[in-house]
Amino acid sequence: MRDTVQAAVEALRAGQLVILPTETVYGLAADAGNPQAVAAIFEAKGRPRFNPLISHVADADAARKLARFDTAANALAAAFWPGPLTLVLPVLDGERVSDLARAGLDSVAIRAPGHPVAREVLRAFGGPVVAPSANRSGRPSPTTYADAVEETGASVAAALDGGPCEVGLESTVVSVLDGDVRLLRPGAVTRAEIEAVVGPVRQDGEGHRSPGRLALHYAPDAPVRIEVTEARSGEILLGFGPGVGDLRWSLSPSGDLREAAANLFRRLREADRERPAGIAVSPIPQQGLGEAINDRLRRAAGFVG
Ligand code: AMP
Ligand code: MG
Repeated sequence: MRDTVQAAVEALRAGQLVILPTETVYGLAADAGNPQAVAAIFEAKGRPRFNPLISHVADADAARKLARFDTAANALAAAFWPGPLTLVLPVLDGERVSDLARAGLDSVAIRAPGHPVAREVLRAFGGPVVAPSANRSGRPSPTTYADAVEETGASVAAALDGGPCEVGLESTVVSVLDGDVRLLRPGAVTRAEIEAVVGPVRQDGEGHRSPGRLALHYAPDAPVRIEVTEARSGEILLGFGPGVGDLRWSLSPSGDLREAAANLFRRLREADRERPAGIAVSPIPQQGLGEAINDRLRRAAGFVG
């Protein structure tokens, strides 16, 4: 099913769900101001209702109608939007982003995505669109059209094909509340890139201010072992760097973190389809994008420490 932008916008207006490509991962989108539509997202994903959704907007001007931006928030939006950074800010308009979308919080998570198809939809729709990853809750995020349709295609009225996701990893979530900037979830924009704009940022305690951060998430059916240098019998090894494991399963043969991020969820899904005894992943350096890759892998393995 490959629909037009116009069909997708009409579906959103009618309170229906849409598969929406973004540069991070494929999203399952709905009108943020329509509580029934937002409820249908939680239903389709099997997502716990305490886990708030990110509202997507066309640009910073649209975001400023929904949330209060201080100096740091403005600087971050200017530096990274459109792009894979989500800002959690004090909510201004609790109608246009419904209570359910915010899980009842007085803050709202917002981002202006960079993918041209997402931008076209958001401009034409003219309001905020919630769009969590288009997988059923707890599973690896879809980074291709086919994977998105396989996960939640049955729940949508329209699906847009935007090609494979360039980034392949969810947005970085940063809160800017009471003059305090915190990293709630590592993601596609690195900590160093954020700190270059606003200075040192603190990491939030697990699950403290970001209620949806679960210990087991992004997980394929096969058990995942991480930081492993040799596969056990029946396991598929996802390698990183020259000469590690089978080239076909490598996250990046040259050891490039950007390439590894783009391949991560795709390889996890491909490996899972082979029904292996397990999926082993070789060590990934913790710098730059490695922080977010390791965060996802720890959760895919059901281990947060
Ligand atoms: P996703 O699960 O990829 O849709 O990402 C949503 C992320 O943003 C989750 O980690 C949420 O907990 C976080 N989030 C969304 N809204 C808020 C909010 N108002 N306050 C704190 N974290 C939020
Ligand atoms: Mg997700």
